[in-house]
Amino acid sequence: MRVPMTEYLFIDLDTERWLCRICGHDLGDARGNYKEGTLVYDRDPREIHPPILDPERYEFTFSPDPAFCRILEFCCPQCGTQIEAEYLPPSAASSSSAARSAVPRSRPSTCRPATLRRWT
Ligand SMILES: [Zn+2]
Repeated sequence: MRVPMTEYLFIDLDTERWLCRICGHDLGDARGNYKEGTLVYDRDPREIHPPILDPERYEFTFSPDPAFCRILEFCCPQCGTQIEAEYLPPSAASSSSAARSAVPRSRPSTCRPATLRRWT
């Protein structure tokens, strides 16, 4: 039986696996962290929250300083759907363990492949 856990995440109670709700891709053991089965995009927070005030005139523009904030987007490696996002201080590790580089199997539609890595 598949139970929706978030907008983009199922848990299959029979097989105890995490699944993408969009494409059904298996994201890993449900007794572990589903983020380990995703690709991660380490975003520049200024791309997501551009300055509201002119940075030439004001020191604080309501845009996050990358020295104080990083944004991680976790995406399905099969369909590219963004499943989760985390806002962290730059030196903090994600709620997952350390990352290693990987090439996605398909071209995600919402995440940029050149910047994605597997989160394990
Ligand atoms: Zn998917």
